[in-house]
Amino acid sequence: MDWTAEAIDQLRSLWAEGHSTAEIGRRMGISKNAVVGKAHRLNLPARPSPIRREAEGNAAPRPAPTRRPAAPPQPREPAPLRRLAQSAPAAAPPPAAVVRPFPRAATRSCCWPLGEPGTPDFRFCAAEAVNGKPYCAEHASVAYVRVRDRREDAA
Ligand SMILES: [Zn+2]
Repeated sequence: MDWTAEAIDQLRSLWAEGHSTAEIGRRMGISKNAVVGKAHRLNLPARPSPIRREAEGNAAPRPAPTRRPAAPPQPREPAPLRRLAQSAPAAAPPPAAVVRPFPRAATRSCCWPLGEPGTPDFRFCAAEAVNGKPYCAEHASVAYVRVRDRREDAA
């Protein structure tokens, strides 16, 4: 047996899953003795003897039904879980983003102020900003009118 790092990893994980040495050998295509010898050299922890004796006794087609230490509880429960996640209020963060008072540059949302500054109602528009501008289409047009007005006032 050529013990590559990969083969050793496979041995370790099969061992950790509690398979019998015969079963590990079968899966890796090597002899049970090779498994035992390598496990010994790797100082892999001994499994509880009753299980090992039982598994080695009828060494074949039982994929260890009762002994599954690391297995996930159930394959999946699609519909109920997903519906739960959607209706659960804690699992729905998106609305908070809309009210975020200071839009970050990356979000490219409109930073037109709405309401009286300093009051609880005050917030920024947060609509999607027009490409290259800090405001949404509506507020961009207002902003540019104002700038023009101010320039005309100043002139
Ligand atoms: Zn806006």
